[in-house]
Amino acid sequence: NSANASTSANANANGNANATLAVDRRANATFVILARNSDINGAVRSVRDIEDRFNRARGYPYVFLNEEPFSEEFQSRVRVLSGSKMEFGLIPREHWYQPEWIDEEKAKKERERMEQENIIYGGSVSYRNMCRFNSGFFFKHELMQKYRWYWRIEPEVHFHCDLSFDPFLFMEDNNKVYGWTITMYEFEKTIPTLWGHVRDFMGLHPEYVAEDNAMGFMSHDGGNKYNLCHFWSNFEIADMHLWRGPAYTAFFEYLDSKGGFYYERWGDAPVHSIAAAIFANKSQLHFFDEIGYEHNPYTHCPQKVETWEKGRCSCDMATSFDYNGYSCMKQWDNFIRG
Ligand code: GDP
Ligand code: MN
Repeated sequence: NSANASTSANANANGNANATLAVDRRANATFVILARNSDINGAVRSVRDIEDRFNRARGYPYVFLNEEPFSEEFQSRVRVLSGSKMEFGLIPREHWYQPEWIDEEKAKKERERMEQENIIYGGSVSYRNMCRFNSGFFFKHELMQKYRWYWRIEPEVHFHCDLSFDPFLFMEDNNKVYGWTITMYEFEKTIPTLWGHVRDFMGLHPEYVAEDNAMGFMSHDGGNKYNLCHFWSNFEIADMHLWRGPAYTAFFEYLDSKGGFYYERWGDAPVHSIAAAIFANKSQLHFFDEIGYEHNPYTHCPQKVETWEKGRCSCDMATSFDYNGYSCMKQWDNFIRG
């Protein structure tokens, strides 16, 4: 396998002392980066970080997606950072833009109201397109079809620790479907009707609800009220079987038909998180403590000294978001402990 051979050669050429990092096994996985051409400097920083901390010795490929064609400059500036395969995809119009059946007058009124209320991205159509795309379409892109696993990366994020293991293989070997590093509360004003629709959907389709689900992480009264906890989806390592299967397909179509991606401002973070919490068993959700990760303004830094030292982490343990008042880690701990 020439890909593996060149990966090992890379690791050696870079003087990597840990020869065991040269891979003999890789998951069917890719990085996926949604970006605009104007995001180029941030995209370069993110790719450089993940290459330095993980991928130089692994050789996982990249898929970049954009609703406009990527410029030659964008492509050459990220290509130069890695020997891995990089593909640049154009998002089909029907996967990105506001559908015809959305009542634009109503949507506009809501955008203006949300903007007046200073709701973050409340007035933005493009942000709504992005959230709907990340919720229901990225895994349908033709360049993503050959892969099962993905690691979502955004421009301008940071990876703070060396990874001495492969999170994709960890997920595959341990029957995980959704991996995260930061969990927090959602702004209620962006999703006023979302939970009601989730409850209705669960009533219509009890057959899709996993037996040992993680509903208890998101609701303390058996699903009546949502506590707004969700996983911060700018970082995700997950199994696309979860999004491509019948439960999520029906769930996304149901939510989409309610128009809340445009009449409200539903984020892909609560949509993915709620779906993972109800369609997967709780043991299939995984907190990656070892992955030091930063997306402005928050950082997850490993909380055990051994982990921090082993990873040669560049983050400050003391400022990790985990037990910030706005974090949902406490709820997660309590839920998992039962
Ligand atoms: P935030 O993290 O919620 O503040 O949102 P971001 O602005 O970081 O956007 C989330 C992701 O979508 C990032 O990967 C952006 O590069 C990407 N993104 C946001 N808006 C657009 C857009 O209009 N077009 C494209 N191609 N990517 C976008
Ligand atoms: Mn972002």
